[in-house]
Amino acid sequence: ETDRLTTPRILRDLMTRHGFTLKKQLGQNFLIDPYVLDAIVAASGVGGQSGVLEIGPGAGVVTRELAARAKRVLAVEKDRALEPVLAETLAPFPNATVQFADFLQTDVRALWRSFEGCDAVSVVANLPYYITTPILFHLLDAGVNWQRIVVMVQKEVADRLSARPGGKEYGALSVAVQYHAAVQTVLRVPNTAFLPPPGVDSAVVRMDRRDPPAVVVQNERLFFQVVRAAFATRRKTLQNALTSGLGRPKEDIQAVLAAAGIDGQRRGETLDVREFGCIADVLNTLS
Ligand code: SAM
Repeated sequence: ETDRLTTPRILRDLMTRHGFTLKKQLGQNFLIDPYVLDAIVAASGVGGQSGVLEIGPGAGVVTRELAARAKRVLAVEKDRALEPVLAETLAPFPNATVQFADFLQTDVRALWRSFEGCDAVSVVANLPYYITTPILFHLLDAGVNWQRIVVMVQKEVADRLSARPGGKEYGALSVAVQYHAAVQTVLRVPNTAFLPPPGVDSAVVRMDRRDPPAVVVQNERLFFQVVRAAFATRRKTLQNALTSGLGRPKEDIQAVLAAAGIDGQRRGETLDVREFGCIADVLNTLS
């Protein structure tokens, strides 16, 4: 019974019975491919003692598979019109709860209290494409102790998440994610896996927390300020980007880069995580 939500006829019937219509503006492309569903659940690695935060459960196709395996599932869904749908699909799973809210407005640390007594927490999301990046930053910035993140994202975002320095895909998102996690693309997903099919292809990406992070810095906030400043203006040299982005005198920035052994004429997108760490540590010592 549980895997039948991936059957388009059954999913359509469910939505019709509850008078629910898909909203394009909320990125509602529901998963209808059972093979992809299995891959997401397997990648999440959840077991009997796990907690799972799901962002955007939709009709609950992924949620119920997670709830069947995990100790506790908390799903955050923006669209209240899905309430009767989820009440039906999650009825067999008392360990699954839905909170109706915009994830970007939630206090992630408060959500985390639901996972007391769980031995590890995974985050699983088939994300609305228009807000993938803000959602990932909202999660990473909260500083909560997730063990793994498994997300379905647009293929271009998957490339950015795992991008190496030097290419045009490499940016603040790549550094933020790679600082915290080892990133791997698990599966390419064609648009036919969704109802309705989106205009882009997708990929499932798995991020496993690195503990310690990829580079150990004295001041994490400062590290991310440096990263953001370096990528804020891509055409500028690193020296100019940091001068304007950090609001400090040019001579200070030149001295910091010299002490860190980094050429100020380089572009921010050529620096790796370790080099950003060097700059942040020198800055931290001076300020
Ligand atoms: N997980 C379901 C699936 O795989 O079929 C639905 C995935 S659909 C791509 C994205 C879901 O995220 C939709 O249910 C949408 O309503 C929800 N959503 C959109 N924006 C959101 C937000 N800001 N916070 C929480 N959920 C959101």
